[in-house]
Amino acid sequence: AQHFLARAKAHTPLGAYLAMNDDATLAQARAVDARIAAGDAPPLAGVPVAHKDVFVTTDFPTTAGSKMLAGYRSPFESTVTRKLAESGMVCLGKLNCDEFAMGSANETSAYGQAHNPWDTSRTPGGSSGGSAAAVAARLAPAATGTDTGGSIRQPSAFCNLTGIKPTYGRASRYGMIAYASSLDQAGPMARTAEDCALLLSAMCGPDPDRDSTSLDVPAEDFTRALNERLDGLRIGVPKEFFTGGLADDVRTAVDGALAELQKLGAQLVDISLPRTQLSIPVYYIISPAEASSNLSRFDGVRYGHRASHYTDLIDMYCKTRAEGFGDEVKRRIITGTYVLSHGYYDAYYLQAQKIRRMIADDLQRAFQQCDVIAGPVAPTVARGIGACCDDPLADYLADIYTLSASLAGLPAMSVPAGFGAGGMPVGLQLIGNYLQESRLLNVAHRLQ
Ligand code: GLN
Repeated sequence: AQHFLARAKAHTPLGAYLAMNDDATLAQARAVDARIAAGDAPPLAGVPVAHKDVFVTTDFPTTAGSKMLAGYRSPFESTVTRKLAESGMVCLGKLNCDEFAMGSANETSAYGQAHNPWDTSRTPGGSSGGSAAAVAARLAPAATGTDTGGSIRQPSAFCNLTGIKPTYGRASRYGMIAYASSLDQAGPMARTAEDCALLLSAMCGPDPDRDSTSLDVPAEDFTRALNERLDGLRIGVPKEFFTGGLADDVRTAVDGALAELQKLGAQLVDISLPRTQLSIPVYYIISPAEASSNLSRFDGVRYGHRASHYTDLIDMYCKTRAEGFGDEVKRRIITGTYVLSHGYYDAYYLQAQKIRRMIADDLQRAFQQCDVIAGPVAPTVARGIGACCDDPLADYLADIYTLSASLAGLPAMSVPAGFGAGGMPVGLQLIGNYLQESRLLNVAHRLQ
């Protein structure tokens, strides 16, 4: 822990960490030592970890990358961070992210940019950009992330890491600051599939009293199938993931990884996910709708920021929210309230929910032909910081390959697939059927 704290401090310009508290970290380490001395060594005894700043923690402040929560200290601990601590992990601190996890480049954080360690003029991806930057620069051996529409997979791909979003409901959302509750899932980001498997085994499990959407499926040992052979495994390659905006360098790296899987005994199967394009409008209707509701709690009364000058209650709400939220968050609250409002609900929100179901059905049909789906994570390698400033839509469109699995609640991961333009990392995305995390991790591990 001391090694990583020192490294993190030596690399503050990378912008990966938002909060550290050496006393708390070392106290956690000593508590693990005491457990070891008492003959009760937990499985991940003493392994440091850092958390995306959307998990509430009692030892560290939690901001969700927003000015709205500046200085906020939670009175309780999120289930995911608690479970990792119970498994012996020692928390190094909190990691930068897009504001309320809304973004793809860590550019919407109110606390500055996290940089990509492979080329610091580029973004590390987002929204779990600080998590990716920290692990890639070895400022933490592993980190937590959250994925609503790709925020574990895309930054993992951009920083040459392995990251997995489990099946919706595997990990408890208790204490994870909500963006879009029907999509949000926690997961690990690390150097290898094996490390991800170790963390995921510790993170998952039912939490019925605290998250009613957590699945009633017992925690699993996700390392158990890592070494299984891939002979005869059918890997579905959706044609819609290889058209349009996919850059040549990314395609070449992904094709290389697919060829590698064939050499390992897997069989490639052509499949179709015909509604892939629709995942973008569907996601950018449903997620802002849920966000507009979730973010209504930030009213200046209960948490964090409150405007200092106001005339009455309504004025206090307005000024607090105008000052506390950044542009992207405001854009999504406005979009969300619009699509939910009377007269527009049927045309937008209801329609999006119907297509969401069709996208999930398309994926189930695909899984009749294959065991795992593979393709790119993102159409390009990490872009330069600031390159999309005036055009939020450009980043929305780049979520095309990650959104389908999110909308269907399927497990999906990113595994390093080689390098593209400028020597930047490329990720291979693997999507599994419900609860098939072990199989995804197996495929990723064999590839490594
Ligand atoms: N880029 C997507 C968005 O901006 C995904 C974010 C996420 O998964 N948290 O909403």
